[in-house]
Amino acid sequence: MRWKGVIENYWKYLPVNKKTPVVTLLEGNTPLIEAKNISKYLCSGRVYSANRSSNLDHHNFKIYLKYEGLNPTGSFKDRGMTLAISKAKEEGFKAVICASTGNTSASAAAYAARAGLKCIVLIPKGSTALGKLSQALIHGAQVIAVNGNFDQALEVVREITEKYPVALVNSINPYRIEGQKTASFEICDVLGRAPDFQVMPVGNAGNITAYWKGYKEYKKVGKIKNLPGMCGFQASGAAPIVKGHPIKNPRTVATAIKIGNPASWKFAKQARDESGGLIDTVTDAEIIRAYKLLATLEGVFAEPASAASIAGLIKLCKKGYFAIARHDDREGCIKSSNCLIVVCILTGHGLKDPDRAIASVKAPIVVEPEIDKVMKVIKI
Ligand SMILES: *Cc1c(COP(=O)(O)O)cnc(C)c1O
Repeated sequence: MRWKGVIENYWKYLPVNKKTPVVTLLEGNTPLIEAKNISKYLCSGRVYSANRSSNLDHHNFKIYLKYEGLNPTGSFKDRGMTLAISKAKEEGFKAVICASTGNTSASAAAYAARAGLKCIVLIPKGSTALGKLSQALIHGAQVIAVNGNFDQALEVVREITEKYPVALVNSINPYRIEGQKTASFEICDVLGRAPDFQVMPVGNAGNITAYWKGYKEYKKVGKIKNLPGMCGFQASGAAPIVKGHPIKNPRTVATAIKIGNPASWKFAKQARDESGGLIDTVTDAEIIRAYKLLATLEGVFAEPASAASIAGLIKLCKKGYFAIARHDDREGCIKSSNCLIVVCILTGHGLKDPDRAIASVKAPIVVEPEIDKVMKVIKI
């Protein structure tokens, strides 16, 4: 059957009606890729000796990648944006606005263009990845760079929408969360159950809020029996939730999670506590290592913020976290299926930030166009 986007596909779970003009780019339906090489790597003993003692090996320790980078504008933001823009149009708005580290603006610009709405985006000057900025501009959004960080830009945007008839499409807009929760539906639809754990990056914390809401709703209607432990990761230089206070000048290479005062802070903690999960930090060095590992071991290119979930997965494995959970048998689901399933959310595409990719690897060698010269460097 032809895929019609997240609103049509999950209509009955979303706040839509027959009058809602559906603005879609056929987002969603992203692949859930099994990461066998990463599982082998984690179980090899190099990372995770604790796996051995708990009989966790790569046959019963399954890792899946929810590759959200394959959404129409290259990030999960499209799931929320299809709904936010459709509802803005339904409610008669002529313009939408957001503050963005990049992906929200790319998505808002594309969906607003399709809807025929004016789009205004405020980005922190100098810290938006090239791909994202080019998207917002090419889709015709009015892009304003503010001399400040994301949190300050969001403050201004909130004020504007209180005073002027412009729809706010940041994730404090509840329609964004509603749309984004469809990703957890897709995971359950594919697996036929919920994972035991989900590992994901946390920035403004809308996405962890959305996933948790989605899982709970699917359980309520009887689609799944268990709920996953939600494991969120912040960059160590931008970890307000872990530190317990806002960070004035957040710092990290993972610009999509460079946020010092998350709008959905409270809901992220709720997701963590209700699910029996955790929110922890990973360093920039760990993020970049995971970023390269993912690309070289699995052939999957995700942006640095997304790699925070792989960095988090590795950190948890080193601590023996999953072995302990298996031993404790969370809700009886792990032993009964005899297989521990962890889903890592890859929130955005690697091509969003080509500069970071180039900076993380060796530059190509330059040679003369002669077989001898080329063979000399190939060494096979
Ligand atoms: C927006 C974004 C995040 C963070 O999501 P929040 O909902 O703000 O926590 C992570 N990764 C990428 C690629 C993003 O675009």
